[in-house]
Amino acid sequence: MSKQNIEPTMTIKVGGIDIDVFFVPGDNDSFGDFTYLQTQIRVDSRLEGGALVDTLLHEVFHAIWSIGQLKEKDQEEERAVAVMASYMTQILRDNPHLVKWITKNLPRNG
Ligand SMILES: [Zn+2]
Repeated sequence: MSKQNIEPTMTIKVGGIDIDVFFVPGDNDSFGDFTYLQTQIRVDSRLEGGALVDTLLHEVFHAIWSIGQLKEKDQEEERAVAVMASYMTQILRDNPHLVKWITKNLPRNG
């Protein structure tokens, strides 16, 4: 997989790493992926609403898993959850545009 030649739709800071997010035509194989080497997330551009947000957050969690070094060994549930929560706290603090994006894509009726 090569780096996209287009500008990312947004960049999300996860720990010390800036992850570029691209919305790309899907291949039906998967709706999203995260690659550590390219520090990028790709999401199927056909997704909308809850499925779109779910998929992006899924890939953000894969990024946390990688960056938080959870992938290296058998992880205790408590440690995995603690690292996820700490990173999510940082992500929500440092990426107000992401919070706005989530809210916009999860409209509530009434
Ligand atoms: Zn996955």
